[in-house]
Amino acid sequence: MVLERLSQLEPVARRLDPGPEERQALLQRLQAYSESFLQSLDMAPSYQASTEHDDLFEAPFAEAPLDMQAALELFDRHVVQPGINTTSARLFGYIPGGGLYPAALGDFLAAVTNRYAGVYFGAPGAVRMENQLLEWMAGVVGYPTSAGGNLTSGGSLAHLVAVVTAREAFGLRAADFERAVVYLSEQTHHSVAKALHIAGLGGCHQRLVPLDEGCRMQAEALVQAIAADRQAGRLPWLVVASAGTTDTGAVDPLETIAQIAADQQLWLHVDGAYGAFFALCEPGRRRLAGMGASDSIILDPHKGLFLPYGSGAVLVKDARQIYNAHQADASYMQDVVEALDQLSPADLSPELTKHFRGPRLWLPLKLFGTRPFAAALEEKLLLARYFYDRLGALESFERGPVPDLSIVTFRVRPPRGDPEAFNQKLVRLLQERGRVFLSSTRLQGRFTLRLAVLSFRSHLDDIELALEELQEASRLLVES
Ligand SMILES: *Cc1c(COP(=O)(O)O)cnc(C)c1O
Repeated sequence: MVLERLSQLEPVARRLDPGPEERQALLQRLQAYSESFLQSLDMAPSYQASTEHDDLFEAPFAEAPLDMQAALELFDRHVVQPGINTTSARLFGYIPGGGLYPAALGDFLAAVTNRYAGVYFGAPGAVRMENQLLEWMAGVVGYPTSAGGNLTSGGSLAHLVAVVTAREAFGLRAADFERAVVYLSEQTHHSVAKALHIAGLGGCHQRLVPLDEGCRMQAEALVQAIAADRQAGRLPWLVVASAGTTDTGAVDPLETIAQIAADQQLWLHVDGAYGAFFALCEPGRRRLAGMGASDSIILDPHKGLFLPYGSGAVLVKDARQIYNAHQADASYMQDVVEALDQLSPADLSPELTKHFRGPRLWLPLKLFGTRPFAAALEEKLLLARYFYDRLGALESFERGPVPDLSIVTFRVRPPRGDPEAFNQKLVRLLQERGRVFLSSTRLQGRFTLRLAVLSFRSHLDDIELALEELQEASRLLVES
């Protein structure tokens, strides 16, 4: 009975493990699709509204297979086409995405070999690769090699790990939560508040420190807020500074804030999700001075290193603190500190079994070397500055502050009518035309456009096109 059933099942089950020829055919189809996708990027719109008929989602998962070509067609039509083209050189909205080709190959390697990267014992090489990448990032932000960290799925999870580490390192207990104070600003990314909430710290005071005219935290106001809180019997705990805000790319005065946090014995956490990797180039490094004086920091390789989505990182200057916060049994910490490159991700994050994230970053760094990354990042800084300068020569545009990094804020001053309505219509029109994609925000209560340059594919031509499109679209609106 058993043998008979097995003989029926085995040939069907074996279909899960295609042989060499079949693998070759699958890969060829995949490669042909990737090439046609990449080669048509130049012509593709930067935004496309959703399709009406969705056979992808209407079709049930059937017992019978579909062939690769048909699957790719469904994927292209219903997944790749609609929405924002995050791989476009002309995407300047939100924080633009990446998608380095060798990163895709790194993911492929990680999936095919499927090493167990959560625990050193299971995959010592995989864990050391990830720790080496983190050590390299520690060098970029100015941390010592004794820092510890974790490759996460993104900045939000990285914040969560940092917040929990800061909570434990500070010795905050439930009884302290309602007295504890976190200092941040109106421009702090909302993922910080989300991390606090998830970590059970939603009841802490969140003190919004006032900003200067460049949307940077005012250090003097921070000092005053801390003093006022101490006076009132509250418990100042955590300062969150931004190394490049999402809205305007503003860099808080990190050196001064670090000094304040040190004097006041508060934990300083820096949000470098968008901005920290600019430290790979000299002008960026100067603008980000002071980052290394923090206690913890997050970075998003899926932003500043142009990786596909799903790559964040958290670093904690003292590796023992991230370890203690995530691993209950710390009695053998002595040995662990002597072998930092052997720390297991499972002891430094909420995860156990996890995506082997190392190769998607390791392969591009190895294949390209670091120089093209530094060049691309300096190029983005200059492109933003160039765009800002060019806008200055156009009478109908008013500009926000000189960009600290690669985000420019501005709006159109229409010849007549409500500027709010005009600028809102302008963003919509640009998105409909689909040649460039820009997004908007609200600054000091005013509807504001922003141009964020961070795609590795964006170069001077694309900025020129954005300038042209902006003028053309506003002309159409004025005439309509
Ligand atoms: C994108 C971003 C985040 C959140 O990171 P995710 O990777 O989207 O989770 C946090 N802070 C800043 C400044 C960001 O730009």
